[in-house]
Amino acid sequence: MHKNFKNIDKVVYGRGSFNNLDVILAERRTGTDAFFVFLVDNYFKGKDLEKRIPVKPEDVLMFIDVDVNEPTTEQIDNIRDTILNAKGLPSGVVGIGGGSILDIAKASSLMFTNEGSSTLYQGLNLIKKPGIYHLGVPTISGTGAECSMTAVLTGPVKKLGLKCDWTVFNQIILDPDLIATVPRDWWFYTGMDTFIHCIESENGTLNNTFSHAYAEQALKLCKDIFLNEGCGQNAQNDEKLMVASLMGGLSLTYSEVGVCHALSYGLSKILGTRHCYANCLAFYHLEDYYPEGVKEFKKMIALHNITLPQLISKDWTEKQLTEMAEVAYSLPHMWIHAIGSEWKQKITIDIIKNLYKRL
Ligand code: NAD
Ligand code: ZN
Repeated sequence: MHKNFKNIDKVVYGRGSFNNLDVILAERRTGTDAFFVFLVDNYFKGKDLEKRIPVKPEDVLMFIDVDVNEPTTEQIDNIRDTILNAKGLPSGVVGIGGGSILDIAKASSLMFTNEGSSTLYQGLNLIKKPGIYHLGVPTISGTGAECSMTAVLTGPVKKLGLKCDWTVFNQIILDPDLIATVPRDWWFYTGMDTFIHCIESENGTLNNTFSHAYAEQALKLCKDIFLNEGCGQNAQNDEKLMVASLMGGLSLTYSEVGVCHALSYGLSKILGTRHCYANCLAFYHLEDYYPEGVKEFKKMIALHNITLPQLISKDWTEKQLTEMAEVAYSLPHMWIHAIGSEWKQKITIDIIKNLYKRL
């Protein structure tokens, strides 16, 4: 069967579009017990944006520090249990933040209606019932979490997403003003996640006209943002980056990621390295798999004075290398796309370990 993907129901785009949030939620504030849960990146506490969040007296506003850890199953279960016990079932969840907050919002929406711990649902199509209405407002662009059908959670056993059609947001608001304050290094790493999504989506067996159309446009935008004259972190490029992130995400949804993301998952799982940064660490060394993409990536690194540490693998034990390689090897969909259906004849645990040793 061909992929039958679920897209976001509604999208608002444009500078200042965050101001539409109140009106968008208003039509769902029906009934006397209606209330919304706002999950907001702690970064915005005390900032101007906090005053612009349309919180009503009956709503719940939670600031979440995403720097402590990436989203966990325990965190989601706690949010769900606390709110259900205190106030009952909300009318919806609004996530305002980067990929971490967007994933927390998506996962919470599902867990409000599915019993037991979120650990039970880590995987594909394990969720039993549709979640509640959920709306995402990205404040960093690049991961594509605003459009993906997964909410990545770290649990006691697995780091794996709650992945199903119901994970996808009902509504997103893309306001380029909100990403203006992203620190320069994060701007680069998350932006590169989009660039790498496109390069990987394009270079593999699942590439097709549909995924290509999105990747081609997203790559064009990435080049304006990171490479061409006028590149850099500025208002005009923020407008482009928000669209590139969405299109890069849609491209990989209808194709697949590849070698870099497989290696990056191993780094995140075993060493806790953050997704976008881990991708940058790995992609730098994959010139033989993605010659053109890596060449451009290195130009962008130089142009924006980004320093990526080298020779980091010398500090890793053989055991860690094996564990990382096992995580990467356990992602056959990425290898099938990148290498082909006969990938096991070309890729072994030892070969993957050697890829890690390049870092
Ligand atoms: P993030 O949400 O982890 O945030 C990174 C940092 O930027 C934090 O310190 C945050 O407080 C800060 N920040 C956020 N917005 C800001 C702003 N406007 N100004 C200043 N600082 C701001 O960053 P991310 O890279 O977008 O997300 C990474 C997460 O996304 C990981 O948990 C990863 O697992 C997940 N992810 C999900 C998907 C998916 O499809 N669901 C895909 C890739 C990654
Ligand atoms: Zn990615």
